[in-house]
Amino acid sequence: MLSHLEGRSDMAKKAEHVIILGGGPGGLATGHEVSTKGGKVTVLEKNDFVGGLCRTIEDKGYRFDLGGHRWFSKNEDLNNWFRHLMEGEIVLVERISRIYYNRKFFFYPIRFSDIFKNTGPITIIHAGLAFFWSAISQSLFKKPIITMKQAYVSQFGTKLYDMFFRMYSEKVWGKPCEELSADWVSQRSKGLSVWTTVRDALIGSNNKVTSLIDEFMYPQYGYMRIPERLTEDIRSSGSEVLLESAVSRIHYHGPNDFEVFYIHNKEEKSIRGDAVVSTIPFGFLAQILVPACSQEVKDAANALEFRDLVTVNVMIKRKQVSPDTWLYIQDSDIIFGRFHEPKNWSKDMVPDDEHTSLVLECFCTAGDEIWNMSDEDISERCLRDLVDKLKFIEEDEYEGSTVIRTKYCYPVYDLDYAGKLKIINEYLAGFEGLHISGRGGIFRYNNADHSVEMGLMLGQKLLGYDIDHMAVNTEDDYQEIIGENEARRDKYIFELPEDFAARQVKEAGAA
Ligand SMILES: Cc1cc2nc3c(=O)[nH]c(=O)nc-3n(C[C@H](O)[C@H](O)[C@H](O)COP(=O)(O)OP(=O)(O)OC[C@H]3O[C@@H](n4cnc5c(N)ncnc54)[C@H](O)[C@@H]3O)c2cc1C
Repeated sequence: MLSHLEGRSDMAKKAEHVIILGGGPGGLATGHEVSTKGGKVTVLEKNDFVGGLCRTIEDKGYRFDLGGHRWFSKNEDLNNWFRHLMEGEIVLVERISRIYYNRKFFFYPIRFSDIFKNTGPITIIHAGLAFFWSAISQSLFKKPIITMKQAYVSQFGTKLYDMFFRMYSEKVWGKPCEELSADWVSQRSKGLSVWTTVRDALIGSNNKVTSLIDEFMYPQYGYMRIPERLTEDIRSSGSEVLLESAVSRIHYHGPNDFEVFYIHNKEEKSIRGDAVVSTIPFGFLAQILVPACSQEVKDAANALEFRDLVTVNVMIKRKQVSPDTWLYIQDSDIIFGRFHEPKNWSKDMVPDDEHTSLVLECFCTAGDEIWNMSDEDISERCLRDLVDKLKFIEEDEYEGSTVIRTKYCYPVYDLDYAGKLKIINEYLAGFEGLHISGRGGIFRYNNADHSVEMGLMLGQKLLGYDIDHMAVNTEDDYQEIIGENEARRDKYIFELPEDFAARQVKEAGAA
C-alpha cells in the first residue's frame, strides 16, 4: 500500500498486465512504479538500447548525451526519488548558461550590465524604448498573445527579442516565430522579462519569491544511467524490458483487453494485456490502433510535426574550451544552435584530463539539407565554424568527431497544434485501458523529469489509485524558477527510506 495515497476515493481497478510502448524515461518510470510494487509489466522498445532521447553515447573514451541533459524538478519528493534511484552516481553541476550573439557572450537570463558592456548605451536605450512601447501598446490595445513572437515581444520588447530569441528559436523550430504558438514561451520563460531583469539589477533577486536554479544534479557517467537503473530494477522485479521490439499495431478486443503486435528479429509477435501505456509518438499511435481511425484523425496525426537533431561530438586535445554548461549560438551563419562541454558536467565524460569535447546540436528535419549531410561533411562544417568563425578551438586541437542522428526530438507547437491534439485525443478516449504519457507520447514539451513524474503517477493509477498524471507540466510559469506558489497540482509523493540519510552520512565519511 502506498501510505500517502491511502484514503483516496474512487479506487480504480488494478491492472494485471501492463504493456508499455517505449523504453524512454517516461515508459520505464511507469514500469518501475508498477513492477517494484508487485505488478507485472512488459516494456517494448524498438531500439537496441533503453533511454530514448536520454541516450548517452560512448566512443573512443568520450561519453556524451544527445544534448546536455540536466536533472531538475520543482518537486522535492521527485528529487528524493531520483537521489534514491541514482544513489552513489550523482554529481552536482554549477549552471552557467550564456548566449553567443554577434560574436559576443551574454549571460542568460539577460543582464543589463552585459548588454551595456557588449553593445553600449544606445542599444540599452533602444531596448528600453522598444520594451516600453510594447508594454504600452499591449495595455492600450489588449491584443491576444497567440504567436511565439508576440509572447517574446510582450516580455522583452522587439529589440531584445531580435537579439536573443528570434534567431535561436528559428534554428530550433525551422520556422519563423510568427508561425509558432505562444504556448512554448510560457513554459520556457514566463516569469522572466524586462521587469525581472531590472528588478534583479537594482535589488538582486529575492530568493524567497523567484530564483533561477544555479546548480543541478547529473549522473556521473551520463544521463542514460537513469533509464538503465530503471531497467535494472524492473528486470529484477521479475518483469520484462524487450529491446529491438518495434510496436507495429494494437488490436482492441474490448474494454481492458489489448493485443499488441511488435516486430522482433524481422518476425511479428504479439502479447496480450489489460492496460496499454503508450509513450511512442502520439500521431503514430493513432494510426496503428484497430479499429482504425477516421480520415480526419489520420490527417490530424500526419499534420503533427516533430523537429529532429544531428548531434556532433567534437573531440579536442585541450583541457577546457568554455566554463559554460550550455552556450546558445544565435548567429544564423553557424550550423549548430547550442553546445555543451560534457567535462564541465562530469570529469568521467572524457578519457583523461588533457582532453575535452564539445557536443554541438544541429537542429533539423529528417530529410532536409542538414540531416542529409554525410558524417564527414557535417563534421567538417562544424569544425570550420568552431575554428574559423567562432575561434573557440585551434585546428590542430581537433581529434575527430562522432555524429548521431535522432528523430522525434521536439514536438512543434505550430498555430493549430492544439486543434489537432483535440481530434486525436477524442478518438483515443474510445479505448478503455489505453493511457498516453511522455513527451512524444502526448505531444507535450516535457523535460525528462516531467516524463518521469508523469510515468510514476501513471504507475500509481495503474496500481488502482485515483491520480491524474496528465496534470504534470501544465504549470503556467517558467520551469527553472523556484517560486513561492508552487504545486498547484497533484504531485508524485515519495518517502525516502529511513536508512537513506544514514547511508549518505556514512558515504561522506568514507570519502
Ligand atoms: C537535445 C536535447 C536536450 C535535452 N535536455 C534536457 C535536459 O537538460 N533536461 C531534461 O530534463 N530533459 C531534456 N531533454 C528532454 C528529454 O530528453 C525528454 O523529455 C525525455 O527523454 C522524454 O522521455 P519519454 O520517455 O517521454 O520519451 P522518449 O525519450 O522519446 O522515449 C520514447 C521511446 O519510445 C520508443 N519508441 C518509439 N516508437 C516505438 C515503437 N514503434 N515501438 C517501440 N518503441 C518505440 C523510442 O525509441 C524511445 O525509446 C532534452 C531533449 C533533447 C532532444
